[in-house]
Amino acid sequence: MVIIKTGEKLTQFILQQKSLGKKIGFVPTMGALHKGHLSLVDTCRNECDLAVCSIFVNPTQFNNAEDLHNYPVTIERDIEMLVAHDCDVLFLPDREEMYPANGKLETYNLGNLEHVLEGSFRPGHFQGVCQAVDRLLHRTQPDVLYLGRKDFQQCIVIEKLLQLTGRTNIALRKLDTIREDTGLAMSSRNLRLGIADLEQAPSLYRVLHHIKAHYRFDKRHELLHEAKEQLKQAGFDVEYVELVNEKTLVPVRNDAETKVVVAAAWLGGIRLIDNVQL
Ligand code: AMP
Repeated sequence: MVIIKTGEKLTQFILQQKSLGKKIGFVPTMGALHKGHLSLVDTCRNECDLAVCSIFVNPTQFNNAEDLHNYPVTIERDIEMLVAHDCDVLFLPDREEMYPANGKLETYNLGNLEHVLEGSFRPGHFQGVCQAVDRLLHRTQPDVLYLGRKDFQQCIVIEKLLQLTGRTNIALRKLDTIREDTGLAMSSRNLRLGIADLEQAPSLYRVLHHIKAHYRFDKRHELLHEAKEQLKQAGFDVEYVELVNEKTLVPVRNDAETKVVVAAAWLGGIRLIDNVQL
């Protein structure tokens, strides 16, 4: 695996590979890799000629300085895992490379998408995500971009970013959430859960799955209310549990819409998110 630290060198390398007719796949991450990330790398590896992964803990998407400060960094282990999964290129830029001093930060017209759900609890988060992903795509110029459905709203926002920046030639692959045996969605933040909280954490998936299993349109408010109550009893501080339209992310108004149930809740000082498609 080649490790490249500057955008200029990465673009040079990619253009050379493209001139050989290679199909470029790209998996952006913030590191502290787990099986969820690796499933993206494996699929990218299988579907493309060149698998490129990036690790960059993007400061502009953290609306909470403490969360950024505590974000796990396990770079040596990450590199070993990427090598074991046959990743071809790791792009490892530093902050100055991504955001040169005195550089301007773009804003993107994401409409309502950046104000609902995650956006309403994490103001500015999706602008930050777009600032990083836009820069990474500019350098990587992939044919296929791999994202996890675990971050459901992020997938929709990045789809919008591709339209806004005229990158409709990039194919977007949204892959299923990889879970622990308990159902808990794998996440880098799980590393920060204490033992007792790790035992409670799978309740988040359990209540979402319960809603899916017992769903009836006329019972939806009741089911959402019950889910929140169960999470509170399990020790969570709930931000939202909502049943929303898969594309617009606004609460469903009729049963014909394609639906996803999404949730965010704090447990032991750690913010967890999850979603299940109905
Ligand atoms: P992150 O490092 O958290 O920014 O995540 C990088 C990519 O991995 C994003 O596209 C995430 O949606 C995806 N991802 C994170 N956790 C999982 C998971 N448990 N299953 C599948 N994909 C995931």
